[in-house]
Formats: sequence, C-alpha cells, structure tokens
Amino acid sequence: MAEEEKQPRQFRAEVCKVLHILTNSLYTNREIFLRELISNASDALDKLRYRMNRGESPSHADLPLEIRINLDKDAKTLTIADTGLGMTADELAENLGTIAKSGSEQFLADLASTAGDEDKEKKTEDAANIIGRFGVGFYSVFMVGSKVTVTSRPAFGDENTANVWTSDGLGTYTVEPADDADLQRGTVVKIWLKDDASEFIEKYRVESVIRKHSAFVPFPVFVDDGQVNTQPALWREPKFNITKEQYSAFYKAVTYDSKDPLDVLHFSADAPVQFNALLFTPDDAQEFFGAEKDAWGLDLYASRVLIQHHNQELVPEYLAFLKGVVDTEDLPLNISRETLQENVILRKINQVLVKQTLSHLEKLAKDDEEKYGRFWKLHGRIFKLGYNDFANRERISALLRFNSSAMTDADALTSLDAYMERAPEGQKTFWYIVAPNREAARLNPHMERFRRKGLEVLWLYEPVDEFVMDGLGKYKEWEFKSAEMAGDDALNDFSDKEQPAHEAVAPLSDEEQGSFDNLLAKMKEILGDKVKEVRVSHRLADSPAVLVSPDGGMSSSMEKLLKVMRKDDTLPVKVLEVNRDHPLLRNMLRMFQADADDRMLAHMTQCLFDASLLLDGYLKDPQELAARSRQLLENAAAWYTEVKKI
Ligand code: ADP
Ligand code: MG
Repeated sequence: MAEEEKQPRQFRAEVCKVLHILTNSLYTNREIFLRELISNASDALDKLRYRMNRGESPSHADLPLEIRINLDKDAKTLTIADTGLGMTADELAENLGTIAKSGSEQFLADLASTAGDEDKEKKTEDAANIIGRFGVGFYSVFMVGSKVTVTSRPAFGDENTANVWTSDGLGTYTVEPADDADLQRGTVVKIWLKDDASEFIEKYRVESVIRKHSAFVPFPVFVDDGQVNTQPALWREPKFNITKEQYSAFYKAVTYDSKDPLDVLHFSADAPVQFNALLFTPDDAQEFFGAEKDAWGLDLYASRVLIQHHNQELVPEYLAFLKGVVDTEDLPLNISRETLQENVILRKINQVLVKQTLSHLEKLAKDDEEKYGRFWKLHGRIFKLGYNDFANRERISALLRFNSSAMTDADALTSLDAYMERAPEGQKTFWYIVAPNREAARLNPHMERFRRKGLEVLWLYEPVDEFVMDGLGKYKEWEFKSAEMAGDDALNDFSDKEQPAHEAVAPLSDEEQGSFDNLLAKMKEILGDKVKEVRVSHRLADSPAVLVSPDGGMSSSMEKLLKVMRKDDTLPVKVLEVNRDHPLLRNMLRMFQADADDRMLAHMTQCLFDASLLLDGYLKDPQELAARSRQLLENAAAWYTEVKKI
C-alpha cells in the first residue's frame, strides 16, 4: 500500500450520520453489537466454507472454522477472531468505510419515523435491534468502543497479507499493513471498551448475550477458550424435542424480529426429495417494497451448510410472508448459487412446501378461527396473490376471507363456503363490490337492490381484489361478479325482502312518461359529454341516481386501477341512471314541465351528477362542486324562509 494511503480517510457522509446516531442516541440494547460482530464472523466462515466446498483451497486449509472471543480485563479490550474469508486492504476500506446507500437511508428513515413517539425509548431499542437488517451492523461496535481495530488477512488470492483498519468512530479511519505473524487467516476485531461499557469485559455477561442472540450460529463460538453455543441445527431435531421457547429464540435469531412468531411449521419430507423445513409466520405484516423488495425467501442449506440466504426458488411469491430454513441432502455441497435458478430439486421442494403450507393453513382455519383471522389480517394481502397458482386454485380459494354485507363489523370475515351456505336457493354467483372502506360499500347505490332482496355482497377494500376475482373466475361452479355489473334482470329470481324507504308513488301517466323522456334528453343536453346517456334505472329504490358502466364496460374500480396505471386522469364517461319514482326526480319533472329551460333545473342536474360521481369514487373539481352546492343552499334557505314566513 502506498505511503499516502495510510493517511486518515473520511467516512462517507451516510456513514457519519449512522455513526452519530449510534454513538449519541442509542444507549439501550447496546449488547447487540456482539450479535452483529458474531454474525459477520459467521458470514465470513460461511463464505469460506462455500468456496471450499466448490473445490477452492484457502490458505492454512487445516485451520478449524470457528469464532474466538477474548476478554482482557487489564487492557479493557474485547476481541472477536474468526478464521473466515478475511478482507484485503481495499475491501477493509470499502466494506467498513461506506454503506450501501439504500441500507443507510432505510435505517435512518426507520429511525426518523419513530422519533417523536412517546415510547421513544422502546423504539430506539427496536432500532438498535433491527440494525443488522440494513447492512450497517458493523458500526454498532461504536456504541461500546472508543477505538476499534479490524485486522484481516484474506483466505484466497495473491494479496493475502494482513492489514489493519483503525478508527475511533468519529469521522476518520486508517488502513495500513499489519504484522502477519499474529494472524494466519480471517479477521480480528479488537474493541477498546468505553468506560460505561465495561460490563462487556465480564465473561458471564458476554456469554449470556451470546446465548440470547447468537445461540444458533453454525460455528463454534468460544469465550476465553470455553465453547458457548452448543445448539445443533434446530430444524434437524425431532419436533417433540423442541419447546416453543426454542422455536421463538431461533426465529428471532434468524429474522431480527423482536416478537414471537405467529405460527410455526416444522416438518421433513423424504419423497420426491429429502429435506427438512422449519418455517415461521411473523406476527407482523411484511412489506416487500423498496429496499426490502428482495428480503423474502427461505435460507437454503445443503446438508447443514448454508448455500444461500433468502432463496426465492423455494416458495412462490404468494408465500413470501414465510421465513425460515430449508435443508436438503439432495443438493451437492459444491452447488453454485448461480445454478440454483430453475433447479429441479428446488422446484420439487417448492411444490411440497406449497402443499404442506396449504394443509397447515387449512387446519389452522378449521381449528383456530381467531388465529387464522389474524394470519389473514397480516398476510392475506400477499397470500391472495395465489389466485395465479392454477394447480392449487381450489384450495387457495377456500382459504380466502372477506368482509361482507352480512357481517356485523369491518373486522368480521367470511369464507366463500360460508357465503354459499347463507345464499338463498338458486344463487350461483358470488357478488362483490370494491370500495375503499365499509362505509363506502354500504352507501354504494348498487347495494340497494341486493339489500332489498336480502342478497349478501362481498366487500373488497383493495383494488387488487378485483384482479383476484377476475383471475379466479369460478369457485365450485359459482361465478364471481361485480354487483355493479348485475344487469336489470340478474336478480329477478329473488323476491324482495325489504320495502324501499320511500312510499310507493303512483306510476306516471302516459303523458307524464312522455315528458319524463324529454326530461332525460334535457338532462343529457345539460351534462353534455360528461355522460354517455341518461336513462331510467330499474335498480334503484332509495337513491335518486347512480352512474353505471355502459353495457359490456368495466367495473368502476377496475377502470380506476387502469387509469392510474396509464396515468390518465380524465373522468370515465358513464351512463347516468335516474330513479323515476324518487321525489327529487318527480319534482324535477314538474319544474321541467313548467319551464324546460329553468336554470335551477340545470343546476340540480349538475349537482345530481356530481353526487353520483362522488359515490363512484371520483372528485375532479371540488371547487366547482362546492360552489354549486353553496348556490343550492342559498336558494333553499331563501325559499324556506319565504314558505315558512319567517
Ligand atoms: P452486513 O453484514 O449486513 O453486510 P455490516 O456492516 O455488518 O453489514 O458489515 C459490512 C461488511 O463488512 C460485510 O458485508 C463484510 O463484507 C465485511 N465484514 C464485516 N465483518 C467481517 C468479517 N469478520 N470478515 C469478513 N468480512 C467482514
Ligand atoms: Mg453484518
């Protein structure tokens, strides 16, 4: 290394930010620095073993793969040494002087979003806890160290001399050649403990932290020459030997989650492939966007050797909420990660995992409705993407849950089978409405006919639901259909169960009917291109009007979704259907008969259209709408005082 490169170098700005927060605001849960350093050591050993299995020969090939921690009470130092992959001088600077930008941004955003919270202490504790997720784990060492050196000697390559990285975590670091004699292979992290972190010089304390956070590290960990972790690979153990606490501890160790898992699925299979699987369902909703987009998948082991974290060939995307481990004897140890895609063995494992998971969910739904409901609330959004899995569609459909018009509150759920049981004789359709929430669904004018006939409608609150319904097509020979798309005659087979709120009015005379037709034409003239047609509705009872898709068109939610995708913000042109028997329309008819060009009539037509548009989920011109309704109020108040003579 050139002489000038021994000069102190600046940490990149994002590193400084992370360091500043770590050293100045995270005082609780500092013990996790040990977990982070042990996990880095374990990763380095994993990488070495992976390459050895592929036939490469490291320097000092006979060194054991292990992690050794030494405590020096006099010097107040703690060192962690591994015999893993090691780093070159350049890698030291690259890996410990920068952060993958997305990682630090995510971490900082996560911290910022928790600031200002009343439960700040708890939140920062969580932040310290999750630090390892963001690729910034190493820097947690500065929560406890006033000075840190990382001495490293690569296991492979020509450049396998030792170098040392040194920093006080304040803003700069140096990298320079180190004495090779002390280090044969791998990395030694040496920490000069801060005065207020002297607890980590105590053997019992360090051991208990390791037992708590690092019990499942797959390499021996020694503290002052005594081995601490003796846990075998839990997924290889017989189920009946394992306690709930052991499962939880394992789950927390592999996921960085601070909560217990919602559910555990542990099994082994022998045919068509041999494998052991230990799968967890987290008790939190999972986000798979942005930086965490690739954070799903299962850890793949071949005969207890880690081949890949987050392997996504093992499970389909709709089971992305699952976390855990798959270990198979049927893959060669020297398999390369690059060839894992489209691997036949993984595909077979995938199929067995899907079947087992579905059976498990079916059993859960049957035996523990409440827990299944919680699963649905947290992970239903991902799970329902399973509508794409043709081979398992029937089973997946049976596991879907919905809120509906027959449920008493927004949290209640029904299955399709329960819906079928409640349906009257002769019904062969699952009716649904997509709405932003329960209240909007209830007020949707298309609900009126269904309510009157006592027919249940599934209420879907997410736009993707409509794709699911479309994709499923049928379940047990019943069709899925949007209530909006129910034709005039679609519900004729079902008798009315309820009377409309308005009293029945006398039918229009022939002459009045003629005028009404003219009124409709006038309304179309007033609304112009905003509507395709204005016509009489046969679906309404209590509402004066509703917007419907032209025959053969799309449902409104589907149309909205497509518009968003196309970045199209124009309003859809629909048919305005009006309720001929509604008092409002009857009065408008009288106004029309008295004066076809009455300005008030034009005004009311516009308002009626605005209100229908709002119920359909569109609000294009709030100013205009507000102005129009203010005008109406003004008139109404004037007339009211006049009529009442006040
Ligand atoms: P992450 O482990 O998520 O990548 P860290 O901040 O913990 O993030 O570590 C940064 C990088 O430093 C690691 O990805 C690795 O390349 C390197 N590194 C850290 N510790 C070691 C070690 N003991 N042996 C080899 N490389 C290491
Ligand atoms: Mg790490």
